[in-house]
Order: sequence, then structure tokens, then C-alpha cells
Amino acid sequence: MYPLAPSHIRQYCEATYGNSCFEELGRKFNNDNSFVYQIKCRCMCGNFNVYIDEHPTAIIKCCSCDNEIIVYELSYYPAAIKLQGSCELSKITSGVFDSFEICVKYEYPDDYENADDISWCTVWIYNEAEKRLITVIDDETS
Ligand SMILES: [Zn+2]
Repeated sequence: MYPLAPSHIRQYCEATYGNSCFEELGRKFNNDNSFVYQIKCRCMCGNFNVYIDEHPTAIIKCCSCDNEIIVYELSYYPAAIKLQGSCELSKITSGVFDSFEICVKYEYPDDYENADDISWCTVWIYNEAEKRLITVIDDETS
């Protein structure tokens, strides 16, 4: 089952080649229970606007084709403690920039039963103009 990633995002998960910051994260965190990917849209664009709420949820929108991709959303994960109600999504900016490359890490417990059974998610965004890596989600799912 490769890539091992939640079903809502599996088709967008690519190896972390080409961005040295993301490659470094891959070297540091890839192991039998932890998987690091760069997100690429189906149109091959790697730049996204990023929206976060307090649950936390992370949704990204392709800068080329407007495709929306769910990166982290508790309602998809069987083990997650779900929160009631909806929170307002807010767009992430860094300085004057609102377009980012996206790197994710999904972790699984030893006894995971399927690809949605994650135990932790980390989401980093990278802005090429600022050369800056920002952590936007670092959440224990269950
Ligand atoms: Zn796209």
C-alpha cells in the first residue's frame, strides 16, 4: 500500500525530491511508521494557498487550477477525538506571501489497521521567496 497516507490525500503524495528543506525532513523522519511526502496537485503544480482552523484542519488550494486538497481533517480518522462544531478557516500568510510548497508527515501506530489510522500529523509549508520552513500543524490525532 504505497504511498501509505490517508485516503483523502494519497493521490497527491510524492517523494520529497527537489526541495532540499523537504528532503532533509524526509531523511530525518521517514521510517517504518512515519512517512514524509511533498504534495503535488493533479495538474503537477506544487504551490498552494493554505487554510487552517483550530480543530486543527488543514486545506490547501492549488495556485494553478484551484483544486482543493484536504491535508488534515479529523473526521477521516477512526481513532481521532472529534470536536463538535465548525471553526473558521483562515489563510496562512508569511510576510507578503501566501503561496507555499507543502510537506507532510503522517505517523502510524504499530498496530494500525488501515491507511486512515494515523496517530500523528505534521504539516510544514515552505516559501521559496523567503527560504523559510514554517510548521502549521503538529497534532497528535488520537
Ligand atoms: Zn492544480
